Amino acid sequence: MTTQQSTDQQNKPVTLVGLGPMGMALAETLLKKGHSLTVWNRSPEKADGLVAKGARRAATVADAVAASPVTIVCLTDYETMYKVLEPAAEALRGRALVNLNSGTPTEAHAAVKWFEERGAGYLDGAIMVPPFLVGEPGAVFLYSGSQSVYDQHLEPLTSLGDPRFLGDDPGLAVLYNTAMLDMMYTTLNGWLHATALVGSANVSAEKFAELALGWFMPVVVDYAGLAQQAPDLDAGNYPGTLNTLEMNLNALDHITRTSEEQGIHSEHPRLMKELAERAIAEGHSGKSYLAIYELFKKATPRP
Ligand code: NAP
Repeated sequence: MTTQQSTDQQNKPVTLVGLGPMGMALAETLLKKGHSLTVWNRSPEKADGLVAKGARRAATVADAVAASPVTIVCLTDYETMYKVLEPAAEALRGRALVNLNSGTPTEAHAAVKWFEERGAGYLDGAIMVPPFLVGEPGAVFLYSGSQSVYDQHLEPLTSLGDPRFLGDDPGLAVLYNTAMLDMMYTTLNGWLHATALVGSANVSAEKFAELALGWFMPVVVDYAGLAQQAPDLDAGNYPGTLNTLEMNLNALDHITRTSEEQGIHSEHPRLMKELAERAIAEGHSGKSYLAIYELFKKATPRP
């Protein structure tokens, strides 16, 4: 792309609705990267600093949507988005919407219908970084749903971060987002519980971090080959050649009993131990620990 073409693309008008902490970071980034920006927010004074830097403040949300071929929305949730955009129903016809609030796949599917009924193209998205990383290299933004909205408005999306189009199922962006947050919280809980375990013997988190985070976690993730074993997960293949669920159950029993002995929280390890026991009871005896995946793929049985 020539410099002139690049400037033409960046000068294409973009509208942003929602100036919370994340919306503000998106707006600042779009301005910094040379886009012609119109903004709207329920509390209009939040746009003062952006207007001083060249953004245009729309008087109504309908004016904001009418100002640009694409409107990026970053509000608290889907319900807030409907409430905010309903007065702009006329202006939405023939426009494209990119929604970046968090939510669930069912909510994303419902949003496609809502915008279809109003004659607007709709792309669902999810932001994988905090506001201060927006626009920085490696700031991943997830998108799914309308490939044509994605392709037509890739320039502003690329200005915000590294855009990843996941497929035409509109629920995929929020599903990937939730799955990665699930992994983050589970990992954080593992670190915090382990730190409470050594903390029961007056070992500081700082001292434990050197071995636990500096050596052990990278070993678990890299050397245990989680990525290399992903095809086995897809195939439901859990060879227990080096370790079996029974061997892991023993370790989980030690974690549970040690937590009890040391007087710290023991529900978390007990749940992990019960999951391993259930997997063995369901016929996965002799397989590797990854056979727990078979339990995770099914809905939890109600007591
Ligand atoms: P937020 O509190 O979730 O959203 C604030 C925005 O929503 C403001 O523009 C606020 O308007 C507007 N809003 C809330 N209720 C409203 C209502 N009833 N009517 C009209 N407008 C309303 O803050 P945020 O951090 O910017 O997050 C926005 C989205 O990004 C969320 O879905 C969040 O999950 C997602 N996200 C955030 C982060 C993060 O680190 N912040 C990271 C990734 C994803 P006012 O300014 O008038 O209150």
